[in-house]
Amino acid sequence: MNILLVHAHPEPRSLNGSLKDYAIKRLQTAGHSVQVSDLYAMNWKAQLDADDSIEARSGERFDPALDSRHAYENGLQSLDIVHEQEKLLWADAVILQFPLWWFSMPAILKGWVERVYAYGFAYGVGEHSDARWGDRYGEGTLAGKRAMLMVTAGGWESHYGPRGINGPIDELLFPIHHGIFYYPGFDVLPPFVVYRTGKIDEARYDAICEQLGARLDALFSTAPIPFRPQNAGAYEIPALTLREDIAPGRTGFAVHVGTTDQD
Ligand code: FAD
Repeated sequence: MNILLVHAHPEPRSLNGSLKDYAIKRLQTAGHSVQVSDLYAMNWKAQLDADDSIEARSGERFDPALDSRHAYENGLQSLDIVHEQEKLLWADAVILQFPLWWFSMPAILKGWVERVYAYGFAYGVGEHSDARWGDRYGEGTLAGKRAMLMVTAGGWESHYGPRGINGPIDELLFPIHHGIFYYPGFDVLPPFVVYRTGKIDEARYDAICEQLGARLDALFSTAPIPFRPQNAGAYEIPALTLREDIAPGRTGFAVHVGTTDQD
């Protein structure tokens, strides 16, 4: 299978750099083809701006969404964006790897998402009408592919537990899992998270590699997080709120996960 690893750490000799190398080797040994987008090494341009189009819309002010659509539809996207879109289309599975920085991904990776996820490619896909709000949340350009996060965090696992002070890890990662992966169609795997990175010796590093290896070996057999698809009847149209009879009385991120009307 084809796997794209998008790596966002500035130092090759870091924990993230070591785990990247380990992951590539493990995946290749299992017979997969691997492409790596090492964003710092590529000097990836993080900011979305008018330079993302080879030719702007004539006489118009720069509009991030409309210029993105114009460039995508007319073959006018900057080549660095085109190459990353080609890698996404090639991949059967995509891994985003990063250190948790201020409770989210490093800016360079956020910029990769903002620029590569063009209008017409990752959003604005499919029929938009009173009866349907496009192909998204379970459908879209990247449907049928798998995606997983590989994250390291300085905080302890308990800090990210159900009552931990940092907030539950599933909730912190929800905007990435649901908003960045599920939105354009990916099946989303549970994340691989390394906690307490300040306390890693050789023995713990070896154990982390073993756990990571097991997750990579199961990349195509692990059950995805059962997010509820937008267009399968669970949401009221056009409000796109979850039907009252599904997860009754509950609110928050977790209501968008469930395989039955009751959970
Ligand atoms: P490194 O610092 O490179 O390594 C960590 C440890 O692993 C070191 O002890 C190192 O010796 C060891 N190690 C590395 N490679 C190997 C190897 N091959 N073999 C054996 N041992 C090895 N944390 C949070 O929890 N929440 C936050 O919101 C958060 N925000 C942050 C914001 C910023 C701007 C910064 C700089 C840090 C933040 N942190 C946060 C901490 C951050 O998540 C960790 O510093 C990061 O995950 C560590 O990853 P690293 O690759 O940089 O590790």
